[in-house]
Amino acid sequence: MNWSISEADKVYNISRWGDGYFTINKKGHLCLLTNKSSSGPCIDISDVIEEIENQGIQFPVVIRFHDILRSQVININKKFSQIIEEARFGGRYFGVFPIKVNQMREVVEEILDAGTPHHLGLEVGSKSELVGALAFNLSQQALLIINGYKDEDFMKLALLGRTMGKNVIVVIEQFTELEELVRLSKEMDIEPMIGIRTKLSTEGAGKWCGSSGEHAKFGLTIPEILQVAKFLEKNNLTSSLKLLHFHLGSQVTDIRVIKDAITEGSRIYAKLRKIGLPIEYFDIGGGLGVDYDGSLSLCDSSRNYNIKEYVEDVVYILKQVCDLEDVDHPHIVSETGRAIAAPHSCVITNVFGQITPWSHNDTSLLLKSPGEHILVHDMREIHEELKAGNIQETYNDALQKKEEMISAFKLGIISLSDRAKIEILYWKTLNKIFELAKAGNSSQELLLNLEEKLAYKYLCNFSVFQSALDTWAIGQLLPVVPIQRLNSKPTIQATLADITCDSDGKIDKFIGLNKFKKTILLHELEEATPYYLGLFLTGAYQDIMGDNHNLFGTLNEVHIYADDEDPTDFYIEEVIRGHTAKDVLSIMQYTPVALASNVKKTIDKQIQRKRIKPREGVRLTDFYEKCLHEYTYLKK
Ligand SMILES: *Cc1c(COP(=O)(O)O)cnc(C)c1O
Repeated sequence: MNWSISEADKVYNISRWGDGYFTINKKGHLCLLTNKSSSGPCIDISDVIEEIENQGIQFPVVIRFHDILRSQVININKKFSQIIEEARFGGRYFGVFPIKVNQMREVVEEILDAGTPHHLGLEVGSKSELVGALAFNLSQQALLIINGYKDEDFMKLALLGRTMGKNVIVVIEQFTELEELVRLSKEMDIEPMIGIRTKLSTEGAGKWCGSSGEHAKFGLTIPEILQVAKFLEKNNLTSSLKLLHFHLGSQVTDIRVIKDAITEGSRIYAKLRKIGLPIEYFDIGGGLGVDYDGSLSLCDSSRNYNIKEYVEDVVYILKQVCDLEDVDHPHIVSETGRAIAAPHSCVITNVFGQITPWSHNDTSLLLKSPGEHILVHDMREIHEELKAGNIQETYNDALQKKEEMISAFKLGIISLSDRAKIEILYWKTLNKIFELAKAGNSSQELLLNLEEKLAYKYLCNFSVFQSALDTWAIGQLLPVVPIQRLNSKPTIQATLADITCDSDGKIDKFIGLNKFKKTILLHELEEATPYYLGLFLTGAYQDIMGDNHNLFGTLNEVHIYADDEDPTDFYIEEVIRGHTAKDVLSIMQYTPVALASNVKKTIDKQIQRKRIKPREGVRLTDFYEKCLHEYTYLKK
């Protein structure tokens, strides 16, 4: 097969999941198109890596592309305003960014900055998120929506926000919350803005489908909503009811579910308006999916619609129901988080080695010796008789012989040297079969089996639990792409292993043509040049969910902007250092000073006992302290 950049694009599906942001340049480097257009700025990610190296920043590194954040915010707002205008819809669109998706200050600031002209607001689900959110400057009309279960202080904070002049809407999840909110607002003499979350009977689709439907954890049933209405009327607060909310769960894979939910939600809105509740905002929650594998399908890692269809369905269905019911069109609110934040960041890791079961090179192990077990003889024969015509048969025989060997070994019948011979012959045979199978027209199944059995493990300098948690926790697929060499043919089927001492610390789910694949095609490693892999679309949820398993800490981060003057240039706006050993140890209640002093004391004792020389002791103490202050990942 001839290789070209377009082949690389197909293998890694870049054009599809990249959504116009990523492309390959003539040098075979992965590049970022900040305007999704080849006539706009084009940042060569290899140049970014070079700059990172020049600045002495260690890998793995998170790169955040602020231009993508801005562009995502602007795109969704533009889509809504375009379609609202086209549909002659009476309300406007007010996005709120759900801060749980990515709480990092720089990220939220960028999103809000790009969203200010569109009155973008925030959504929070906990007290600490609200404490953070209250300090951001939002536009006059922007909303600050509060979801989740609330205690008294949480509601007081919300009312404090009202006194600050912010449009803080408390969304009621339970009737008791309403009683408390009303009591507090009377005590504090502040008029609340109230929302209600309804439990739709429409169930979501995808991983988080439990967020809606009868048995959802959140929201009010219709009888409860009517009880709310009565309670508000009795307390003269009907005019405070501003918003109707529902949320289907994140990453809704099927557009039909969205249509159903909007239809049901629109009816509820209309009927509530008709009984005199002055709801102004129709809040459709989050759920807008990200096409992680680029398949535009019902896979959990994908979605069968694009953003335009999503917005059209929301606007047109809502309009139709309102018109049929003869009620005013509300403003539309969406709490889109994943779709805004996911594409802006990637994790860059360096591959520092590989493992295969046949990576020994002592050929003398295979030499024939007297008294070999019959199974060795059999396996040797299987290996020798392999030819293009009998690969399937040989494959079956080899697998069976190896199993027999393992049983015999457990019974004590096979020696270590015989076992070594059989293992070597087995892998030699499988590798040879793979060569023949690729050249001939063998069955797809055999090829796939061989690809998986013969996959290399590429050792990557990162922790799945810190930097790709979703792949482990929920089987999320993330696009993985080599940053360089995309103009040359990748020949190695591989899986990725991280540096944690946890056999779950691996990635073995990759983009495939139809379904996902257990291996990814990568390039042969070269001694002299580093091989960098990027994990993409990592900007939503993952950052905060990542943990310190094995005390691997947060990553070094670089925040990048395209240079307005030079379309191929960029600048690093900020470098945020990742955790050092001392940082992660402190989280676990260690005191770095005490650690160093304990180690020093022990070394001093060894000096007194004359086990080490004083000079050596000082050197070791210094080295220990240096390690305390360094990055938790492998040095290149
Ligand atoms: C998590 C959450 C969101 C964000 O959903 P995305 O799918 O990331 O857009 C929005 N609203 C509520 C209530 C949530 O809990």
